[in-house]
Amino acid sequence: MSASLAQRLRAGTMLGAEGYVFELERRGYIKAGPFVPEVVLDFPDAVRQLHREFLRAGADVMVALTYYAHREKLRDVGREGDLEAMNRQAVRIARSVAAEGGALVAGNVCNTWAYDPDDPATFATVRAMYTEQLGWAAEEGVDFVISETNDYLGEALIALEVIQDLGLPAMVTMAPTQPRLTRDGYEYADACRILAAEGAAIVGLNCDRGPRTMLPLIARIRETVECAVAVQPVPYRTDAIAPTMETLRGADGSRAFPIALDPFTCTRFDMAQFAAQARDLGVNYVGICCGAGPHHVRAMAEALGREVPASKYSPSMDLHPMFRVDVSAKDAAFLHSWNA
Ligand SMILES: [Zn+2]
Repeated sequence: MSASLAQRLRAGTMLGAEGYVFELERRGYIKAGPFVPEVVLDFPDAVRQLHREFLRAGADVMVALTYYAHREKLRDVGREGDLEAMNRQAVRIARSVAAEGGALVAGNVCNTWAYDPDDPATFATVRAMYTEQLGWAAEEGVDFVISETNDYLGEALIALEVIQDLGLPAMVTMAPTQPRLTRDGYEYADACRILAAEGAAIVGLNCDRGPRTMLPLIARIRETVECAVAVQPVPYRTDAIAPTMETLRGADGSRAFPIALDPFTCTRFDMAQFAAQARDLGVNYVGICCGAGPHHVRAMAEALGREVPASKYSPSMDLHPMFRVDVSAKDAAFLHSWNA
């Protein structure tokens, strides 16, 4: 029996790992563009394997891959008939891997692209989409639900209501695509304060920003709310000029998002430093989003003071043929060309 979400939050900083869609796209199982997780039904072993890699790297939560597995998106790719099977199977896969390492299981919903703050008729559409997705997740069995990459506070509040109607704890995070405000005009910290007041167990930010441009916003949120705070940046080197991954530009000026971001990727050391900084700010749930690899997650876990299953293979440069102190004279000669 694994500890509950509340118990884990009391015990110390939780470690999250996401970015399933980007990583499975790189591995050839998800189509960039629609980014619909058809892989859940078509190649379930690929999903299982990535869950297992994040679990071994120290993730405390297996997040069901139902990101964009909602009615609007499945209609786009002609698979609306697979909606229920895809959602149920994603939770089953997450549950089976979580059981291998005592992780929690999270249901997952995201921005729908159906919400329009100026058209109240869309609110019911969004509610119906979340209700069917999370109803299936609850039936399959999840410990809590993550509602993420929310552009609008209004849409996040609908998700929160649906999660609470199911009697589940909610982690609700906004996507900080703009400098200060949600798409419906709330300061991110105010949006989080409102979500907390409405009963979210964890509030915060995920996606879009890399560590450097995410930290100042999350610090402000930490100062504003009493409840647990989550932060899950993308592992890309965003900065004052390009504060989000969408604004990063390649050397030729072309947009790097979403499939040419590789040159901006954070190292494991960048992400380890971020994890420690977020913990020191008092963030309770530190994670990583689109672009994540298991090496990032393991480095973050170790920065939080943990030894995890994958730590067995953590670097030992003292055993590298060239970097060891007792490097042989023959091998040391290679260093001339390595330093050229
Ligand atoms: Zn993301």
